[in-house]
Amino acid sequence: MAKVRVRFAPSPTGFFHIGSARTALFNWLYARHTGGVFVLRIEDTDKERNSEQFLNVIYDSLTWLGLNWDEGPGVGGDFGPYRQSERGLVYREYLEKLKAAGRTYEKDGAIFFRLLGERHEVYDEHRKKTVTKVGNTPAVIDDRIRGRVERTEDEDFVIVRSDGNPVFHFVNVVDDITMRITHVIRGEDHLSNTSKHVELFKALGAPVPEYAHIPLILKQNGPGKMSKRDQGALIEEYQRRGFLPEALVNFLCLLGWNPGDDREKMPIAEIIRLFDLPGVNQSNARFDEKKLAHMNLAYLLELPPDRFVEQARAFFARLPAGATAAAAAKADESYFREVMLLSQPKVKGIEELPAYTAYFFCEDFPIDPKVREKVMAKDDPKARLAELIELAKSADFSTDAAIEAAIKDLAARNGAGFGDYQAVARLAVSGTNVGPSITGLFRVLGRERVLRRLVRFAA
Ligand code: GLU
Repeated sequence: MAKVRVRFAPSPTGFFHIGSARTALFNWLYARHTGGVFVLRIEDTDKERNSEQFLNVIYDSLTWLGLNWDEGPGVGGDFGPYRQSERGLVYREYLEKLKAAGRTYEKDGAIFFRLLGERHEVYDEHRKKTVTKVGNTPAVIDDRIRGRVERTEDEDFVIVRSDGNPVFHFVNVVDDITMRITHVIRGEDHLSNTSKHVELFKALGAPVPEYAHIPLILKQNGPGKMSKRDQGALIEEYQRRGFLPEALVNFLCLLGWNPGDDREKMPIAEIIRLFDLPGVNQSNARFDEKKLAHMNLAYLLELPPDRFVEQARAFFARLPAGATAAAAAKADESYFREVMLLSQPKVKGIEELPAYTAYFFCEDFPIDPKVREKVMAKDDPKARLAELIELAKSADFSTDAAIEAAIKDLAARNGAGFGDYQAVARLAVSGTNVGPSITGLFRVLGRERVLRRLVRFAA
């Protein structure tokens, strides 16, 4: 069998959204599964609506998701150029072929593609004009996901507009031919175009590729397709919020595909091994933000320390200038690392880190008045504080175990419980009653900060 060649063919007319990312991903997975080639082709013929900004968002998002392309802008390949705006010559050549075969005619300045079959005029109520219908044979599409689909084109259609610009159907097919695409994997919204495309392939004497139309992604609540305006639709947004790309990829895989059992979190190599077109569901998939957050958390918890810190660093670097961002930027590398690793098992996402760790980086953190009231009402917090100050002056702060032993010893000597020290110590060094374990807090903050904060709070 010929080597599989698939393509992702976005138009840079808007931000890169979840539906596009999933189409790219399914193409990429299919290429990787079959040992084929993944082509990136930019469909930028619509000069009015395209922008370089959107183009860069496409490159950035694909790169961030790890969907590397084997041919396309930036990497080249034997069938370029890979931007339609640079392929005018190819379209002219193929238009000549259609002309020579007698399959085009001009009307009102536009060039039409002529279907085969008997013609007759009918009055179209809807459009309020007489149109020419063609008794054409149906195009049969053996869609790898949808199954057999039959559609009939019964009207000639424009392939070059009166302004000289070739239309989507024509350039899309010419590119699939010249780029030797074997499988067209795309959103179901293009199913209705497929019969036009099949007619063009045939008229150009080219083999019709295999088709696989992926069902839609429905919005989280209510009926209807997820649109670019829906909450959670933009890939950029996840990147900005510090989501892990591998978690998003895993989540996207499951929007319309499953491994045949109920496994969800899977290494990408395993997904590549199992992914196949017949495995893609026919029914629409529903976007589920909670499921994505859950997936992200699962990946976050097992992220190797170096990568977690790297992700946190990048996220802090992108924070809008503010007290925490500035203080964290000034903090030394090993302190930042320890703070982040202490917080890794505690946060639900990278984006929670700045608020969760703020008091590590500044001395003027707020003291929660409600917590203060509660903590100061129990036992003898003043005495506990005084004892903790003595502890902080001399105890071994190098490990959690050493700190725990020191507090336990203190508790035993003073007839108090570990918890009595914990609550007031936490309040004094962090201003709150939630956070990492007190031993971890002491170790990472270090003797100097802990002592300074205890003394200040006790004053
Ligand atoms: N440029 C089209 C789109 O953005 C691609 C259609 C196709 O994959 O054939 O939807």
